[in-house]
Amino acid sequence: MPKPTFSLRENVLDFEPYSPGMNIDEIRDRYQLQNIIKLASNENPLGTSPVVQKRLSKAADQCFRYVQAGTPKLTKALSSFLNVPEKHLIVGNGSDEIIDLIIRVCPTPGVHNVVACRPSFSMYRLQAKLCDVEFKEVPLMDDFSFNWQGLLETIDHSTAIVFLTTPDNPSGYCPPLSVMRDFIEKVPPHCLVVVDEAYVEFCDDPQCGSSLRFFNEFPNLAILRTFSKIGGLAGIRLGYGILPEALAKAIASVKPPFSVNVLAQEAGLAIMEDTVFLQKTFQTVQEGRLFLTKSLEQIGCKVFPSQTNFLMFALPKQCRKTARQVFEDLLARGIIIRPLGSYALPDYLRVTVGTASENATFIARLTEVMHDN
Ligand SMILES: *Cc1c(COP(=O)(O)O)cnc(C)c1O
Repeated sequence: MPKPTFSLRENVLDFEPYSPGMNIDEIRDRYQLQNIIKLASNENPLGTSPVVQKRLSKAADQCFRYVQAGTPKLTKALSSFLNVPEKHLIVGNGSDEIIDLIIRVCPTPGVHNVVACRPSFSMYRLQAKLCDVEFKEVPLMDDFSFNWQGLLETIDHSTAIVFLTTPDNPSGYCPPLSVMRDFIEKVPPHCLVVVDEAYVEFCDDPQCGSSLRFFNEFPNLAILRTFSKIGGLAGIRLGYGILPEALAKAIASVKPPFSVNVLAQEAGLAIMEDTVFLQKTFQTVQEGRLFLTKSLEQIGCKVFPSQTNFLMFALPKQCRKTARQVFEDLLARGIIIRPLGSYALPDYLRVTVGTASENATFIARLTEVMHDN
C-alpha cells in the first residue's frame, strides 16, 4: 500500500483486526454447498424469536426516525427485567460497544494499564491497543481456570481495569461465585473489575452464576451482558452494562446517542417479554451440551467442562490430522466450527451447541473426518 499523504496513527497502521468466525455465504460459495451448519460464533440454536420477528415487522415503518437518544424506554424495561435501578444501566450496540466505551473512558493512555487473562476475548486487547493503553496479560492455568494470584500480583497502582469473562470464552470454564467474590474483595478500589457475562444465562452449576448478586457490595464492580447469545439477537446488536453510577453517567455523556437503533430497541423490548423463548433456549443448550460432551468423549476427544453454549475440545492423540485440518475438512462438508489459532490455542477447537439435529450431524461428520485420510 502506498504511504498515505495524510495522518494515520502508528498503532492503527499495523492493527490486527478482530478475527470473526466463518460466514455461511463464504462457505456456500467456496464449496458449492446447499446446506451449511454454522456452529462457529455461539449464536442461538433456535434462531430469532418469533415474538421478536413480529415486533420488528411492526416497527419497520419507524426506520426513518431517529430513536429517542439514549433509548430511555429500553433502559426502563431493562431496569425491571433485572431489578436494577436505571442509574446503573447503559445499553449499547452489542456489549462490544460497552467494552469500547469503558476502555475509552476509564484509563488514561500512557498512565494507566488494563489487565486480562491470556487467552481471553480479543476485544479487550484490541480496544486497549487502539486507545494506546498498556495491556497486561496473565496466562490461564493449565486447566484453563484463572490464575487469581497472578492477576492480583499484576494489578498495580496504575491498573485502571481488570477484565474477567465468566463463564469464559473459549474454554467454557466458570469459577465458583465464592471465589469471584474473594477476588473482587482483594482488588484495590482504584481498579475497576469488569465481569463480562456474555454467557452467564447458560450456567446450570449452582455454585456459579452472575456477580450481580454482590453488585451492591463493591463500588468498583461492572458487569457486561448481551442479548446476542441467549436472546438470539447477535445480528441486531444489543448489549448492556450494569455499572457503578459514576461510570454509567460518564459513558452516557460520551456515547453516540443513536448507537442502539429503532429496531434494536424494539427487539430488546420484545425479547425481555419472551420468557418462553429464553427458557427454551436454555433447555436446548443444556441438553445439547450434554449430548455433545458425551459424544465427543465417546470418539476420544478431550472436552473441557462448559457453562456456556459452546464446548472447547482437543482431538484424540492418535488422530493423524491437526485441529486446523479437521476444521478445514469439516468446512468442505458444510460444517463451520471455530479453530482457536487466533486465541493462540492451535490444538483446540470450539463448537457452538446447535439444535439436536445439527449436533448429531456435526458428530457424524467429525467422526468421518477424523478417520479418513
Ligand atoms: C459474544 C461475546 C461478547 C460480545 O457480544 P455482543 O453483545 O454481540 O457485542 C462479549 N464478550 C464475550 C466473551 C463474547 O463471547
